[in-house]
Amino acid sequence: MSPFSLAGQTALITGANTGIGQAIARAMGRAGAHVICAGRSSCDETVGQIASAEALHLDFANPMAAQGVFADRQVDILVNNAGIIRRDDSVDFTESDWDDVMDVNLKAAFFTCQAFAKAALPRGAGKIVNIASLLSFQGGIRVPSYTASKHGLAGLTKILCNEWAAKGINVNAIAPGYIETNNTQALRADPERNKAILDRIPAGRWGKADDIAETAVFLASPAANYIHGAVLNVDGGWLAR
Ligand code: NAP
Repeated sequence: MSPFSLAGQTALITGANTGIGQAIARAMGRAGAHVICAGRSSCDETVGQIASAEALHLDFANPMAAQGVFADRQVDILVNNAGIIRRDDSVDFTESDWDDVMDVNLKAAFFTCQAFAKAALPRGAGKIVNIASLLSFQGGIRVPSYTASKHGLAGLTKILCNEWAAKGINVNAIAPGYIETNNTQALRADPERNKAILDRIPAGRWGKADDIAETAVFLASPAANYIHGAVLNVDGGWLAR
């Protein structure tokens, strides 16, 4: 069997109704996985595009929402993709915009990893892929809670690697560059920001969700068995500039 195949594996992707999460769900389905499409919005459209898939309601308004999800079914691959962003000047930034973003992007990601590991550690096998960001490395502008959460997610990826790598669980992250999804709609709608971003991307184009999806398949596959604690940039060369 190809080392890039996910045949016989079950993958759970959070935020699988749209954007990067939807593309990852479809790609993992193409690679042969049974896909659990988890989201607060309906994932029926995604499920309909995958040969073997099911929907799961998961709303990280409660960051502990995934407790119990892994107890009654075997899940081999977890993709922590759900994420939100709030934009405002740091001097005006509100506590609710801080807490909402940290809850979904960081607290929910940690406790979902923990719930997954409680089930996967006794089996001695599992793959976690966290969706980080360029703002795991850079400061960004007017997005303080997002930047803090994504720096935190990169750190979590490393500590969980240190604790679980020898026990059969690979914990890695992808740092997407500027990808055409709802998350970046405001940037693409602003001609000045759009031009400034495009001018800096060596590849000369915005990324597509599918650019991220195939990287997630790779990190979830046996081909990545010796990759632990990596935060892999998929950014058209942005960070090389
Ligand atoms: P998106 O289209 O806005 O998708 C975000 C996903 O997260 C949606 O499925 C959304 O569900 C889900 N989500 C938000 N809050 C949730 C909650 N409380 N409970 C469960 N799910 C929730 O944006 P995207 O670009 O695909 O983002 C996916 C991930 O990539 C995020 O972690 C984002 O930070 C990261 N990322 C994106 C870019 C980029 O350029 N697009 C760059 C770097 C990193 P709803 O549709 O119901 O809101």
